[in-house]
Amino acid sequence: MQLSLVRRQSTLAHAQTQHEILQGDLVANLPHFDEALQQHHLPLLHAAGIDVLQINVGKLCNQTCTHCHVDAGPDRRESMSREIAEAIISALTRLEIPTLDITGGAPEMNPNFRYLVEQAHALERRIIDRCNLTILVANGYRDLPQFLADHGVEVVASLPCYLEDNCDRQRGDGVFRRSVEALRLLNELGYGQADSGLRLTLVYNPVGPSLPPSQAELEVAYRRELKSRYDIVFNQLHTITNLPISRFLDDLLQTGKYETYMRKLVDSFNPQTVPHVMCRTTLSVDWLGNLYDCDFNQMLELPVTTKRRRIEDLDCDTIAQRTIATGRHCFGCTAGNGSSCQGAILS
Ligand code: SF4
Ligand code: SF4
Repeated sequence: MQLSLVRRQSTLAHAQTQHEILQGDLVANLPHFDEALQQHHLPLLHAAGIDVLQINVGKLCNQTCTHCHVDAGPDRRESMSREIAEAIISALTRLEIPTLDITGGAPEMNPNFRYLVEQAHALERRIIDRCNLTILVANGYRDLPQFLADHGVEVVASLPCYLEDNCDRQRGDGVFRRSVEALRLLNELGYGQADSGLRLTLVYNPVGPSLPPSQAELEVAYRRELKSRYDIVFNQLHTITNLPISRFLDDLLQTGKYETYMRKLVDSFNPQTVPHVMCRTTLSVDWLGNLYDCDFNQMLELPVTTKRRRIEDLDCDTIAQRTIATGRHCFGCTAGNGSSCQGAILS
């Protein structure tokens, strides 16, 4: 196994290599995801509609977190063009998809981010910004919190710990301090405050190769610690399992923990989560306008199974009944209480 094959700088070859690793020799003794479904007398995964259009506007980010499944960073050049952004707004206008979920990278660094928000707001869609917080206090972006508030954008913000050392270990030196500064700004604008209508969700993901703890219990601890230490409030906490993709996969391979982690995910398979995995009601679009079942499949270059795979051709009737493209990474969504962009699947 050449570890250099799974290092930074994603290419198609890189993505295929990741997918091969997930299907390959190192875990040959583990079942495939579809076999696990069969063992539990569950049908293959199929979509059940499209409630959320999740768009990944590119890999440019002001951070380089160790667990990043996008392999994002300041040196990345992949960025959604105005033409694709317009195709997304056209699809939203044509179709009855209630939510636009914008992710990246740091999506706010895309030059079309504000256009997308303004247009989706005019269409009266729910808008989610998956925000790393530090971008809100970076030079050139300090008016962003007010912009987000003015357009009623929900902020879903990564904060892997309420302790500075743990957070900075995963996300980089100084990230925690700047995240706290950003959270205070958001709170001042009404985010996280009861009845303001401006929702602030925090996202926890484990620092190492373990499953997240109980979402409900961790939310209580976050609420208590952030209030007492920093006078910060928020609406809810989501816990998310790290999927073995990109930098996190690289880290698992380098530290010799890949097989153990995959075994943990497979052994924790919970069939009750399967009907609720997010790909059943979410459609993912990459910065070039290609369609995927989820952001993880996007990173693995596993396209939707339908013939039409472009945002310009999006046809809800066909795509809403598609078979989902699965792989061993799907055990990450179905382990324990399950994991999705909306947090734990089961309470
Ligand atoms: S995890 Fe988020 S904030 Fe960190 S590098 Fe990746 S996209 Fe950027
Ligand atoms: S990784 Fe999760 S969301 Fe993506 S296809 Fe697999 S089960 Fe669905």
